[in-house]
Amino acid sequence: MKNGNDSWDDMMAAVQAFHDKHDLRNNGGEELSYRVALMAEELGEVSACVTKGKPREDLAEELADLLILLMGTDIAADLDLKNAFWEKIHRLMRRDARMIEGRIRVSDFHGMD
Ligand SMILES: [Mg+2]
Repeated sequence: MKNGNDSWDDMMAAVQAFHDKHDLRNNGGEELSYRVALMAEELGEVSACVTKGKPREDLAEELADLLILLMGTDIAADLDLKNAFWEKIHRLMRRDARMIEGRIRVSDFHGMD
């Protein structure tokens, strides 16, 4: 379901509105240790979708939960996640890939030779 407002800024505004609605900043909802715990919880739900063979729609919903938490952590910690994304993806594009135990791994392999 697309609503036509799917730029990063539109999505961040929606997450900010969610934070504002529940005043997360003044109610502990933006404390980083709590947010890390929530992200771990959602990652567990993502994992359960895969390991329990749940429908793809369930997986998408759990990934959306995680994405919303990530975007909210951008707000909570006053980061610039969009900029960090672009810096990192450009760095990843310059990295080498290796096959490790049958799976590709793109990483910084310095010191492993
Ligand atoms: Mg969830």
